[in-house]
Amino acid sequence: MLKLRSTLGRAEVTVSTAHVLGTWPLSPGARGGWLHRAGCALFGHAVDNRRFEAAAPAKTCGCGEEILHEDGSETRVRHTLSCFFGRHSYARIGTRDGHDEYMCRQCGHPLLFEVERADFRAQCFEKKVRYLCNLFGHASHVVTRRAGMTEYACGCGHTFLREAADLRRVTHPPVCTLLGHFVRFVERRNGYSEHVCRNCGHTFGFASPARSMH
Ligand SMILES: [Zn+2]
Ligand SMILES: [Zn+2]
Ligand SMILES: [Zn+2]
Ligand SMILES: [Zn+2]
Repeated sequence: MLKLRSTLGRAEVTVSTAHVLGTWPLSPGARGGWLHRAGCALFGHAVDNRRFEAAAPAKTCGCGEEILHEDGSETRVRHTLSCFFGRHSYARIGTRDGHDEYMCRQCGHPLLFEVERADFRAQCFEKKVRYLCNLFGHASHVVTRRAGMTEYACGCGHTFLREAADLRRVTHPPVCTLLGHFVRFVERRNGYSEHVCRNCGHTFGFASPARSMH
């Protein structure tokens, strides 16, 4: 078995030819085909809350793999480019710690806005990424401490869950831009399973089985 290995920061990707070519020579580009699996090995698995809601309880990627386990293991997820270059589609899932909390109905990106900010108290809305924050970092305030970490939110709504307790500006490390996020389960809340990236503290809310059964 040939293994390609690249190490960047704390992230490590292993691409195994056995994994990629497992279904050779059948339908290379089809769902679950070897080309699809190669795409996931290179870019990370694709996430979509609409798919998770339709196919509860186990979360799977189109490549056929079960992903986003809640046992402490990691899933490498790719960027949802339609959200990043288009708009996230947010729905309000609740209020906590003085903030309204929203989740993207597609990629699971969260947002926290202080409840005093009446301009964003909608149930659902679409929102573009604030690209300047992505470039220069998010000017963040502390929301709460939970799961042994500190949660931060920027004025743009972006949140992070980090071990460091006194950050003012939170940046996206290049490893996440290049390789996607390496996420593990944190907790279930308001019908979503929350996962956090080990490299940047980005959280995601994926429609959880309990929510899908209602
Ligand atoms: Zn996949
Ligand atoms: Zn999104
Ligand atoms: Zn920001
Ligand atoms: Zn990350």
